[in-house]
Amino acid sequence: MAIKEFQAESKRLMDLMINSIYTHKEIFLRELISNASDAIDKLYYKSVSEGVTGLNREDFFIRIEADKDSRTLTITDNGVGMTPEELDSNLGVIAKSGSLQFKSENEKNDADVDIIGQFGVGFYSAFMVSSKVVVESKAFGAEKGALWVSEGLEGYEITETDWNERGTRITLSIKPDTEEENYSEFLDQYRLSHLVKRYSDYIRYPIKMEMQRS
Ligand code: ADP
Ligand code: MG
Repeated sequence: MAIKEFQAESKRLMDLMINSIYTHKEIFLRELISNASDAIDKLYYKSVSEGVTGLNREDFFIRIEADKDSRTLTITDNGVGMTPEELDSNLGVIAKSGSLQFKSENEKNDADVDIIGQFGVGFYSAFMVSSKVVVESKAFGAEKGALWVSEGLEGYEITETDWNERGTRITLSIKPDTEEENYSEFLDQYRLSHLVKRYSDYIRYPIKMEMQRS
């Protein structure tokens, strides 16, 4: 499938994230954990309101895995998931919350820094620390999963995936370290567990961390 272009507003937000000099880049983890939790909420409420059987509250989880060798950080949830159409519309276009705030500010300036910290900047914050983002997702009730991949401003592609579990798995290829930035900290289990603690205050589902043996 051909590369698709991001909507103009998305591109601006993404550009801001990619070139961000914001010092608290770790908030990407807050955003991805909250999205995972939202996705589980959606499925949980659906199961209650529609009386879906076979879904138990205690089966829901969020999992975070770091792999230093491949420099990947993976955030998985078994929430509602996304169809290929939803991957396209939810991740290709910005519409909500923090993004609206972003829209009202026009040029890049110091104010951007505050926007990032104060508002939910959402999914694109992953690009503050990632050179590539892969989202694999299978919607509740769907037959097959789909894969969304982007290396940034160039656009994104949606293809098939073998991954076949309900929910969403997001794999971040963490950027190489530079003189100014230590991105490897996001692959360090102690740093990660510290951040997860900080950002899981309002999360009502268990967050599992797989520790890499070294
Ligand atoms: P917001 O959370 O404010 O809606 P985001 O940029 O964080 O904005 O996410 C955009 C959209 O992408 C979400 O509204 C949701 O529809 C979808 N999404 C993101 N992460 C997930 C996920 N883990 N599972 C299901 N849908 C997701
Ligand atoms: Mg969000």
